[in-house]
Amino acid sequence: MVDQEMLVKDVTRRVIALLGEGIPDERTIGYDSVDSAVKAAVKAQRAWQWDFLLEERIRIINGMRRELLDDKIIEELSVLAAEETGMGRVSDKIIKKRLSIEKTPGPEFFRVNALTGDHGLVLEELSPFGVIAAITPSTNPVASIFNNAICILAGGNGVVFAPHPSAVRSTLRAVELVCQAFERLGAPNGLVVTLTKPSMENLEKLMSHPSIKMISATGGPGVVKAALSSGKPAIGAGPGNPPVLVDETADLRKAAIDIIMGCSFDNNLTCIAEKELFAVNCIADELKKHMLESGLAFELKNPEEVKSLLAVTLKNDKEPNKSMVGKSPQYLLSKIGVKIPEKVRLILIETPESHPFVQEEMMMPILPLVRVSDFEEGLEASLRAEHGYRHSAVIHSTNINHMSVMARAMETTLFTKNAPSYASIGYGGDCPTAFTIATTTGQGPTTPLSFCRTRRCTLSGSFRIV
Ligand code: NAD
Repeated sequence: MVDQEMLVKDVTRRVIALLGEGIPDERTIGYDSVDSAVKAAVKAQRAWQWDFLLEERIRIINGMRRELLDDKIIEELSVLAAEETGMGRVSDKIIKKRLSIEKTPGPEFFRVNALTGDHGLVLEELSPFGVIAAITPSTNPVASIFNNAICILAGGNGVVFAPHPSAVRSTLRAVELVCQAFERLGAPNGLVVTLTKPSMENLEKLMSHPSIKMISATGGPGVVKAALSSGKPAIGAGPGNPPVLVDETADLRKAAIDIIMGCSFDNNLTCIAEKELFAVNCIADELKKHMLESGLAFELKNPEEVKSLLAVTLKNDKEPNKSMVGKSPQYLLSKIGVKIPEKVRLILIETPESHPFVQEEMMMPILPLVRVSDFEEGLEASLRAEHGYRHSAVIHSTNINHMSVMARAMETTLFTKNAPSYASIGYGGDCPTAFTIATTTGQGPTTPLSFCRTRRCTLSGSFRIV
């Protein structure tokens, strides 16, 4: 009797061989040509989907995690990303990489939906899209690669990365390490590849390539708009401007440290990080006192110095000066002739609500503090500052009503209560890690499920067991 499973595998192999005609078999990870990158990924993805059992996928992805969780590798990549982009703090980049390797959910995250009734059995399973184009930001060039690669592959997909022009070396090295681990573990060649020449022309070619079945765009409004205009299923992980609100019932000593740590994490590069502070007037002085006494925050008080800092950090009075994004507080203040101790992680400045430090997504360790008369005024100001991105917000309070009202009103994808914002991506929080927070398109913090489509199979008349 013909073994059905063998037959299916044999046919699949022949199809893969045909699809892969003209694709070199040696392990190439970076491609100048969009078409060659996509073809390599298509060939590998077919094999990954059809030839690799779930058990094998779990073994390979977990094996890759073990190989990458090596202090030397993590440090090398953290130093490289900080040097190449000129942004962020190496010690925090190490944490981001560890998080993305350890806490990104894998194939075990999937659940099957089975329905039975008088008519038989209905099965709903998540199935890969195929090859996904993943466009990654300069702010998390390596953590995004690890996080996206694990999620995308867990669902049976392949991926072509499009690196940010200012993070090509870090992206290539991260992809190379993933591929080397895969090679040792027996995964197909080409499952994870990257473009080497990031340009708008190449990005457009990639997004419109007929074999690209989904686009994952992590970055500012431009890339999200481009992904949504592609006419393909898309994950749009766009910008934010997360407010943090502290009311009169908060544990102020804890709130002070949590806010400093969340806001200054990787020099404020993460999209989820606290970017403006609204403090109820009656506790604002005490909150500030705790922040300053910790030695981790420095208050810039002199109005002339505040003006000078604004002049060097904002371009044309409206957008952050890219060369200042992700720089340390010491570096930023050195530009206006102010010297501060090495220990300081954050520059605190009292401003009115209308100030650009409040309204712009600066991505610098500068935290504007705005006094508000009560919780309600703070909530309204938080809503205005968040600009409807529905990205992230934070509250420090012990008033259950305030916490619930703000969570409901903000409608943000992530809402953190009484912790640094990064608790919501699993650092000190009981949740999986995501470095692609799909705000615009609504998938939320991405998991392997975000990169799959639901398929239903209906069997009439059988297989009900009760
Ligand atoms: P960016 O928008 O400059 O670049 C992101 C990627 O998009 C890059 O690969 C770039 O080459 C590409 N790109 C930019 N404009 C494009 C366009 N018009 N068409 C096609 N591709 C385009 O972002 P960045 O400065 O590297 O990252 C910071 C921004 O990303 C911030 O706004 C931050 O909030 C956001 N971000 C969001 C998330 C999230 O999960 N929601 C995660 C990280 C960063």
